[in-house]
Amino acid sequence: MMRSPVFAANWKMHHGPTAAAAFMRTFLARHEPSTDRRVMFFPPALTLHAVLEAVRDRPDILAGVQNIHTEEKGAFTGESSAAIAHDAGARLVLVGHSERRHVFGETDDATAKKCELAVRHDLIPVLCVGEKLEEREAGDTERIVSRQLRAGLSRLQRAQIAAMLIAYEPVWAIGTGRTATPADASAVHTRIREDLRAIAGDQGADVPILYGGSVKWDNVRALLDAPGIDGVLVGGASLDAEGWAAIVGA
Ligand code: PEP
Repeated sequence: MMRSPVFAANWKMHHGPTAAAAFMRTFLARHEPSTDRRVMFFPPALTLHAVLEAVRDRPDILAGVQNIHTEEKGAFTGESSAAIAHDAGARLVLVGHSERRHVFGETDDATAKKCELAVRHDLIPVLCVGEKLEEREAGDTERIVSRQLRAGLSRLQRAQIAAMLIAYEPVWAIGTGRTATPADASAVHTRIREDLRAIAGDQGADVPILYGGSVKWDNVRALLDAPGIDGVLVGGASLDAEGWAAIVGA
C-alpha cells in the first residue's frame, strides 16, 4: 500500500538552540504544511526545546531525541530517560543508531530495553539497524540486520511494533558519501518487511522502513522510488535548511 514518505533529520551533535531557531525560520518558510509527507527532527537533546518552539503551530512536524537510557531513572550522570524525554516534549526517539552501537557500544539487549521504555513512556521508537562493511563483504548483511531487528523488537507487543518505525542504515554508508544503490537498499528493506511480518503478523505490514546513509537531494528521489523504501533518515544533508527543504520537497 502507499504510505506518505517520512523525511527524518538526524542532526547528531550539531546545531544548538540559536542555530536551530535560525534553521527553522528558513526551513518553515520553504516547507508548507502538507499531508503527503511526514517530517521529523532529531536535534541534540539540549536543542529540542528550540525546535519544539519553532514548530508549535506546525503539528505536521514532529521532533524527538537521539537516545535514551536503558533504565527508568537513577544515578546515571549525563543521561536522559524516556520519561524525561517525553516530559521535555519529545514524540520520538532513535534507538540503536550505528554511532550508538559502534562508538558507544550499545548492544542488541540495550536496544530492546530502550524500545520497551520508549513505548512505556509514549515515545515512538525508530529502531536503526545496519551492517558494517566487513559484514556486507562477507555476505552477512541479512543475518546481521535480521538479528538486530529481532533483538530490538523482542520486548514489544505486536500492536506496539505496528506504531513504530525502522531505519535501515548500512554503517558503511553513514557519513561516508557512499550510498547503497536503490536496488541494494530495496533488497534489504524487503527482507526487513518479511521479518516484520514474521514477528508481528499483519501488524508488521505497514511499519515504515526508512533508508539512511549519505542521502542527498540528488539521490533521494531514486531511493524513495525503490520498492519498499518508505522514507529517509538523513544526517549530514539535513543540517542546511535550504538543502533539507530541497530533500523534503523531492
Ligand atoms: C545518520 O546519521 O543517520 C545518517 C544517515 O547520516 P548521513 O546522512 O550523514 O550519512
